[in-house]
Amino acid sequence: MSPKALTPLLNVTDLHKSFGTNKVLRGIDFSVRSGEVLALIGPSGSGKTTALRCLNGLESPDSGVVSFAGGPEVAFQPGLPAKKAQVLRDRSAMVFQGHHLFPHLTVLQNVTIGPLQVQRRPREEVMARANELLERVGLEQKSSDYPSSLSGGQQQRVGIVRALMLQPDLLLFDEPTSALDPELVGEVLSVIKELAQEGWSMVLVTHELAFARDVADTVVFMDDGVVVEHGPAAQVLGNPTHERTKAFMQRLL
Ligand code: ADP
Repeated sequence: MSPKALTPLLNVTDLHKSFGTNKVLRGIDFSVRSGEVLALIGPSGSGKTTALRCLNGLESPDSGVVSFAGGPEVAFQPGLPAKKAQVLRDRSAMVFQGHHLFPHLTVLQNVTIGPLQVQRRPREEVMARANELLERVGLEQKSSDYPSSLSGGQQQRVGIVRALMLQPDLLLFDEPTSALDPELVGEVLSVIKELAQEGWSMVLVTHELAFARDVADTVVFMDDGVVVEHGPAAQVLGNPTHERTKAFMQRLL
């Protein structure tokens, strides 16, 4: 393993989250190193998306700590102002299940609005980077088009460029292909795989186990709000030790 891959990037400690009486996260721990691709897998309703959203301040856990190397570190507690969790958003960027693009903005405007208006970066640099990234995902011809004229796979690739434009240290993917028609899944997965090969750090909630085996270094298997198994992808997916992981894999065969 390269030294880069040993540098800690994110630590998640003992996250708890309930929605009313529904205890969705019941003490989640894991960590991500720089350059690591971590796949979060598990049955529907096990808390994967909620855990992912906590990393980005989109969800505020009831307790636990999310800390990025070099900051910020957020120790959650009941009543913590939402703003405290939002500081996490500077370190990561989320690619959602659906693309979440602004319908009234062009592709180029969608991917540059954050860097220009929120991050207030220089226009010339932002435009150059946007064009470079749109070209990389094969959408350079679409930059003046509106999202509604694009296929689902193209929209999702714009969503990925929008996340990259924010220059995050960590990319978060929430089931990035689950809303797509089957024939469009491959084009999105191949972009994600390229990013993984380039050394981007990412946490990926996915039900695409073959893809997880292909790109992930580490797999976390969650069930019923806890981490049941956490280890190298080949081991967790190929030779799981826990009964619950084995049962989950078998259901998918
Ligand atoms: P997964 O990603 O593993 O399918 P989720 O994190 O999406 O699991 O959901 C876990 C549980 O939390 C589900 O029972 C879901 O209904 C509940 N849940 C998620 N988000 C909310 C919310 N905003 N309000 C109420 N319940 C929620």
